[in-house]
Amino acid sequence: MLYLIIMQELGDLETVVERLRRVQAEVAERARAAGRDPAGVTLVAVSKGQPVSAIEAAWKAGQRVFGESYVQEAKEKQEALAERGVREVEWHFVGPIQRNKTRAIAERFDWVHSLDRVVVAKRLSEQRPEERGKLRIFVEVNTSGEQSKRGVHPEEVLGFVREIAELPRLEVVGLMTIPEEGPEEVVRARFRLLAELRAWTVQAGFGLWGLSMGMSGDWHWAVAEGATHVRIGTAIFGERPRQRTRE
Ligand SMILES: *Cc1c(COP(=O)(O)O)cnc(C)c1O
Repeated sequence: MLYLIIMQELGDLETVVERLRRVQAEVAERARAAGRDPAGVTLVAVSKGQPVSAIEAAWKAGQRVFGESYVQEAKEKQEALAERGVREVEWHFVGPIQRNKTRAIAERFDWVHSLDRVVVAKRLSEQRPEERGKLRIFVEVNTSGEQSKRGVHPEEVLGFVREIAELPRLEVVGLMTIPEEGPEEVVRARFRLLAELRAWTVQAGFGLWGLSMGMSGDWHWAVAEGATHVRIGTAIFGERPRQRTRE
């Protein structure tokens, strides 16, 4: 029985590595097809809800950039991975940010994709340890206009960037969005809007270069529309086995 469980787990991990390789190759291919340098698109492997063994397998296959959404879950996994000798991981925080979790995010992550409140930005800057580089920030934008969605409103993006650009321990690198599910032309229009908003901030003198857009279901379109970071979970790791962690 135990033997079967172990074989099952090994089989799953092999699949993770195969899927990872395929996604890496497809992202590069899509970038080239869009006339872009594949090196300009970073694959963030979103491992929320996935076991440490799956992250370790992806790491052993060369993946170094991982995304997590829940602070407590991330902390436990980071510690377990360190014990297994998994090092030099670039951690991206992609989940909702609660005020009382900012210190752990500032200490444990290298990038944040989901910033949409000035108070949170201030806390992250204050709490970012001196010995670590600046915390890199994507500002999350609500491009679909849905009430339920997080994110800064498109008209407010420039003002928001202006306010947080002064914070000493943050480096605002770009914009992020999660469009609603929908047909290609709708989703691509959201991605295009994000790219336009970034161009607007550049004109205003902010050196934003990043576009974090595209998940398992829509990253092909995002790469064609200029994504610099695609955040892919399910297409690499399969369905998330664990329940969403509550914090
Ligand atoms: C979970 C998550 C992803 C990955 O989603 P998949 O559909 O599994 O690829 C990407 N971005 C954010 C913000 C997420 O929360």
